[in-house]
Amino acid sequence: MIKYKLYVFFSFLVLVCLVSFGQAKTVKKPLYQKTIFLDAGHGGPDSGALYRNIYEKDINLSIVKKLEKKLKEKGATVFLTRDGDYDLSVPYTINRKRSDLSRRSNMINRSLCDLYISIHLNADTSTTYHGAQVFYDSKVKENKKIAELIQEDLKQYLYTTREAKEKNDMYLFHRLEKPGVLVEIGYITNPNDRYLLTQDNYQDKVANVLTNSVIRYFYRK
Ligand SMILES: [Zn+2]
Repeated sequence: MIKYKLYVFFSFLVLVCLVSFGQAKTVKKPLYQKTIFLDAGHGGPDSGALYRNIYEKDINLSIVKKLEKKLKEKGATVFLTRDGDYDLSVPYTINRKRSDLSRRSNMINRSLCDLYISIHLNADTSTTYHGAQVFYDSKVKENKKIAELIQEDLKQYLYTTREAKEKNDMYLFHRLEKPGVLVEIGYITNPNDRYLLTQDNYQDKVANVLTNSVIRYFYRK
C-alpha cells in the first residue's frame, strides 16, 4: 500500500513538473514553433534611399539582424532573405531589380513561414515628412490586421502619427502569398528620423517594438 501511495505521489510530482515546464516554455518562448521571414530591403549595388554616405540598405540590414536576434530569443525560427550587403538578382540579368524582388518573393512563398516582415526606409523630396509607417497588400486578408496592429505599436512606442496604408501596386508584396507587411521605419530625408535611424539604441528599440508586435499578433492580445 505504501509503495502504491509513493507511486501515486511521484507520478503526480512528475506531472506537475511537466506541466510547469510546458508553461514556462510558452511564457519565456512565446514564439516557439513560429517561423518568421525577415526581408532587409535593397542590398549590394541597390542602396535604396540615401543621404550622403547613409544608405537605406545598411540601416535595413542592421535592424533586421537585431530583430532576428530578439525573435529567436523568444523562440521563433527566423529566416532572412539576405544577411549581408548583396542583392538577390541572378547574374547577367537584364532587369536586376525585378530579378532581385522575384527571388525574394520565391524564397518567402516557398517557405513555411507564418509571417514575413520587410524592413525599408522612406524618403521624400520634402524634409518635413517623418515617422514610421506600415504598408500592406490586401491580397492576403490577414495583412490589414497585421498592419494595423504593428502601426498601433509604432504610434505608441515610436511616437509616429501615421496610419497603416493599403498599397496593392508593389511588385514584391503583391506576389507574396504568406501573411506579412512592409514596415518603413522612418524617413531618411528627415533630419530627426535620420539621426534616430543611425543610432544603435534606436534600432534596438525598433526591434523590441516589432518583436512585441509579432508576439501580440500571434496571441491577439
Ligand atoms: Zn526601400
